[in-house]
Amino acid sequence: MLKKSLWSSFATNPLKYPKLEGDIAVDVAIIGGGITGITTAQTLTERGFKVAVLEARSVGYGTTGHSTGNLYIIIDELLSSLKSKYDNDVVMRVIESRKSALEKIEENVEKFNIDCDFSRQPLYLYEDVNNIILEEIKVAEEINLAFTELAEDFPFEQDNGIHFDHQAQFNPLLYVLGLAASLDKEKCSIYENTTVRSVEEQADRVLVNTDDAIVAAKYVVHATHTPKGLELQYHTTLGPYREYGVAAKLESTSYPQGIFWGYYNNQKYSIRSYSRDGEKYLIAVGSPHKVGQAENNRKHVEDLVNFLQDRFIVGQITYTWGGQNYKPADLLPYIGRKIKNSREFIATGFSTDGLIYGTLSAMIIADKIEDKFNRFEDLYEAARHQPVKSAKKFVKENANVAGEFLKDLSFKGDDKDLLEIMPGEAAIITRNGEKAGVYRQQNGELKVVSALCTHMACMVHWNNLEESWDCPCHGSRFDTSGEVIEGPAYHPLPKKIIEK
Ligand SMILES: Cc1cc2nc3c(=O)[nH]c(=O)nc-3n(C[C@H](O)[C@H](O)[C@H](O)COP(=O)(O)OP(=O)(O)OC[C@H]3O[C@@H](n4cnc5c(N)ncnc54)[C@H](O)[C@@H]3O)c2cc1C
Repeated sequence: MLKKSLWSSFATNPLKYPKLEGDIAVDVAIIGGGITGITTAQTLTERGFKVAVLEARSVGYGTTGHSTGNLYIIIDELLSSLKSKYDNDVVMRVIESRKSALEKIEENVEKFNIDCDFSRQPLYLYEDVNNIILEEIKVAEEINLAFTELAEDFPFEQDNGIHFDHQAQFNPLLYVLGLAASLDKEKCSIYENTTVRSVEEQADRVLVNTDDAIVAAKYVVHATHTPKGLELQYHTTLGPYREYGVAAKLESTSYPQGIFWGYYNNQKYSIRSYSRDGEKYLIAVGSPHKVGQAENNRKHVEDLVNFLQDRFIVGQITYTWGGQNYKPADLLPYIGRKIKNSREFIATGFSTDGLIYGTLSAMIIADKIEDKFNRFEDLYEAARHQPVKSAKKFVKENANVAGEFLKDLSFKGDDKDLLEIMPGEAAIITRNGEKAGVYRQQNGELKVVSALCTHMACMVHWNNLEESWDCPCHGSRFDTSGEVIEGPAYHPLPKKIIEK
């Protein structure tokens, strides 16, 4: 079993763009090379802007390359939850906006001939005993969204179910890599292995500081999935969650076709098949938890494996991976100017719907930069404040964050004798009043880093599946050397030396 996403096994040559080593000036600097950053680059270069994409790691290998690759016009939390906060007009506009982004993806696939296995597929929703689907049917009927009840030969046991036709699936990593390859090189430069450490907005430009160079730009787009740094107006309204994916080979040759969202005892499992190069796979995604708050991350993957084994004759589990998402308190993503009149744009709060929302962000932000009206800009306005719509979730998420801060203050440490830490394991220890995260490598050597997140000094927790230090407050993640993997932290965890 390989610990990487299924998508990455079909993409070759991950590091193919150079590192930025000298200062440059462009119209727009885009931070982040996922679906949001690359689609924004494509949309802006087509309109004549000079663009640079600055990617800390490799294009497409962030959350985009760890997603399920499903494209649909409803949302992960379902229309019924949207309807509990908004009127029918907002629900319909969300669907309309998502439909336009799905069409943009399809158009790009055709226009640039991107080999990413895009196909139109139905989205099936079904449940065992609850009433989630009945609620969804009610909203769909109210807004005249066409759906069909499930046929008798539906492959999974269910009590209620419907499907929406003409949704889609693709390989998200091949799509982004293909789109990046199609960009006009005269107008767009892509830099990998180029981490942005700070952004400084001035009256007439924005300076983007990387480790080795400065990019001067008229505008900056933060396409980093969650805004970096102390953007508290956003971080306090976003709940960071992690969930997992497994890909399996079945004993049978029959793999279910379509997007399947099954609700078992209120727990959602997303299932789809994928085939390429003559090989077929069944993928299950789910088992979420708040970042840095799982007691045993490995159990979440076991849950998915058991889920598949209970329903299929599984030959082999071939890939497992994890991915992060940020849930907005009022259920709508934040897309647009960071604050009024700012030269900086953000795109975040996509929940697990961001292949579409990232594409939509590109369309909205490109229009704003070109000073053109976009009919969805007000719906997702980043600088909005929705105290009533966000209140319940806002209070819940922030009570949870406050709990993590308090936990840190009273933390006794899971202090172990260093000799008790086995190869591949880690623990937080206290030395001279300081907390350190200690990881023992397979060769027996220790890697020691500060256990305080560089974003807001919360205590990081060990993720025993992905071997990373994860922050339970706002979702920053660090590798065992302390380097930032994702989340709002700009800077690595400082390395420490401890006496053995
Ligand atoms: C398990 C899972 C399944 C999902 N399935 C679906 C699905 O089926 N359909 C759907 O629509 N959505 C899905 N999503 C959501 C979707 O994958 C994301 O919302 C989307 O990929 C976000 O794209 P992005 O480009 O904004 O972020 P990313 O793809 O994460 O790209 C951000 C990039 O910014 C870079 N970066 C970060 N910090 C810096 C820095 N300081 N300097 C330079 N670069 C930096 C990162 O390295 C990264 O490459 C899923 C999410 C998860 C977790």
